[in-house]
Amino acid sequence: LRRLTLLLLMLAALPAWPYPVTCSRSSASIARDSYLVSVVFNDVNLEVSGYVLVNHVNRLNRAFDELYFHVYPNAFAAKGGGIDIGRVEVNGSPAPFEITGPDKTLLHISLPRPLKPQAAAAINITFTVHVPNTPDRFGYYRGILCLGNWYPVLAVYDVDKGWHLDPYYPHGESFHFYFSDYELFFAAPPGYIVAATGILVGWEMRNGFNVTHWRSICVREIAVAASKNYVVSSTRIGNVTIYSYYLPQHKNLGEYALKVAGNSIRVFSEHYGPYPYPEYRVCESYGWFGGMEYPMLVLISERLYRIRRKWSLEIVVAHETAHQWWYVTVGDDEANEPWMDEAFAEYSQVLYVEWIYGAEKAEEVFNSWIRRPYYAYLDRGREDRAVALSVWDYRDASQYYATVYNKGAYVLRLLRYMMGDQKFFELLRRLYQEYRFRFVRIADFARLAEKVYGRDLDWFFNYWVYSAGTASYAVDRFTYKETAFGCEVTVVVKQVSPRDRLVPVYMPVTIRGERTAKTFRLWVNGTGVLKTYFGERPVTVIVDDGDIVPGREKGSQSTAPVAAPESLYDLLPYLAVAATYGVASLLLLRLYRKPVEKREHQATKSSGRESD
Ligand SMILES: [Zn+2]
Repeated sequence: LRRLTLLLLMLAALPAWPYPVTCSRSSASIARDSYLVSVVFNDVNLEVSGYVLVNHVNRLNRAFDELYFHVYPNAFAAKGGGIDIGRVEVNGSPAPFEITGPDKTLLHISLPRPLKPQAAAAINITFTVHVPNTPDRFGYYRGILCLGNWYPVLAVYDVDKGWHLDPYYPHGESFHFYFSDYELFFAAPPGYIVAATGILVGWEMRNGFNVTHWRSICVREIAVAASKNYVVSSTRIGNVTIYSYYLPQHKNLGEYALKVAGNSIRVFSEHYGPYPYPEYRVCESYGWFGGMEYPMLVLISERLYRIRRKWSLEIVVAHETAHQWWYVTVGDDEANEPWMDEAFAEYSQVLYVEWIYGAEKAEEVFNSWIRRPYYAYLDRGREDRAVALSVWDYRDASQYYATVYNKGAYVLRLLRYMMGDQKFFELLRRLYQEYRFRFVRIADFARLAEKVYGRDLDWFFNYWVYSAGTASYAVDRFTYKETAFGCEVTVVVKQVSPRDRLVPVYMPVTIRGERTAKTFRLWVNGTGVLKTYFGERPVTVIVDDGDIVPGREKGSQSTAPVAAPESLYDLLPYLAVAATYGVASLLLLRLYRKPVEKREHQATKSSGRESD
C-alpha cells in the first residue's frame, strides 16, 4: 500500500497527456475506469509480477455483488503459461475470488458490499504472470517478450447479454473491453528496450531495474513488447510520433515498416478521421500470426522482415494499423461480431494500396489476399457461412478466416459498389466520428449505412451480412437493332442462384463493341432489363466484369448478339425522321425563296450603280 501511495504521488507530478484527446461524447456522460498497473519482469524465470489497481465506476442502472475479470494467460497452460492471483481487495477489504470459465480465463470476485449505480470501487489485484517460452502474442521467444492480454482486465457487462465472459480464442480475437485510462509502470532488467501502449512519460532505475512509465487515455487494453536486441527508428506524421522496433539484422525492413506505418496513419487519418493518440508503435515479434493489434501498438511477425516478403510486410502493417480505427477506437465486440473489425481492417489494407499506389494495384491485392483465398475455400467444398456470426460459430480457423476476413472484406467492397464511392466513404467517416470510443454493433453500422445512403439497405444486410451463400447471375437475353439514333441494345440479366430467394444487386453490365466498351449499373431484382443506345454494333456483353458480387457467374458473358427482327413498328423512327426532314425542307424552301430573290435584285442594282 505504501508503494502505491508513492506511485500515486509520482503520477500527480508527471506531465499531463500532451495531446488534446478526449473520449469525445463518452467523456461527458460516462466516467471511465482507470487502471494502475505496476509490474516487474524477471527474464530468468519469465515471470511478470505486481498488481493492478482498478478504479471502476458502475455505469449501469443496477447494483452488482460480483465482478468478472479476464485472466487470459491461463489459456496458455499447455505451453507453461498462466497467472497466479495473490490477493484481491475491494476498497481496502479482502474479497473472495475464484478462477473460473471453461479455459480458466475468468477471475470471479465477490464484492464485500453491493456496488450501487454510479458508485465507484477500487479493486486491487496482485498477480504473477508466467510467460510461456513460445512464439506468440503472449510469450517470450528468442529474446523478444510479447505481452498481449496479460493482466486482469474487467469484463464488459451489458443489459442485452449480461456479462461478456467469452473464453480466449486462439485463432483470432475474442476481446471486448471498456475504454479506460491506464498508467503502467513496467520494470525490466537493464538493457531491455520496452514498447508499450501509451506515451512514455518517464523512466528511472529502481532496485536495479529500468522502470518505464506509460500513460494512455481511452484505450481498451494495454500491451507490451520488449527486447534487449531492439533497434528503434521513429518518424512524425502530423501530430503523431511513430516508432518501429526491430531486430538489428532487419534494419532495412524495420525502417520500411516505419514508413508503411506512417503512410497508413496518414491515409487512414485523411479518409476515416484523425488517429486520436499521440504515439504509435510497430514491434517486430515472433509469432505464428502475421500481425496482432493492440491500442497504440501492434506486433508484426519476424517472418515478414525479409526482402522477398516486403510486400506482405507492407500489407500486414497496413492491416494492423487500420485496426487502430476498427476495434481500437470504434469499439466492436470481437467475440460476437468479429466482422466489425476484421473485415474492415482487411478491406482497409486494400484501400491503403488504392490510396498509395492506385486502383489497379489495389485490385491485385484484393484478388490475391481476399478473392482468391475465399474462392479457394469454396472450391475445397467448404460451406459458405454468414459473415456476422461469432467466432464460436465457425467450425475451424480456416472457415473463420475465409468467412470473416475474406468474404467479410468482399462484402464491404460490394457495399461500396452498391452505395457508390461518395456515400460509402462518407459512411466510414461517420462510423468513426460517431462510434469512436464507443461500442458499436453491426446493427448500428447497418442503421448508419441507411442513414447515409438515404435509402433502405435491408436487402443488402439481410443477405450479404446476416445470411450464408453467394449469388450468381447470367445474361438471359442480349439483342440489338440498328436504329436511326444508333444501336439499341437490350440486355436481360437473371439471377441464377440461389434459387430459393431473391438477392437484389446493382450489377455492372459491360457492353463491348469493336472499338469501345461501356459499363452500366443495372438493378437486378431477380431480373434486370437494360435498354440503351450504344455507339457501334455491340459484340459482347459481360455481367459482373471485375467480380463485384461474391460468387462466380455462370453464363456471365454473351457474344454474337442477335439482331432484333425488323417489324413495321421498328420502321416508325425512320418514317418519323423522313417525314420531319420532308416537312422541314418544304418549309425552308418557302421561307428562303423570297429573300433570295431580293438579294439578287439588290446585287443587280448595286452593280449597276458601280458601273455608273
Ligand atoms: Zn486483423
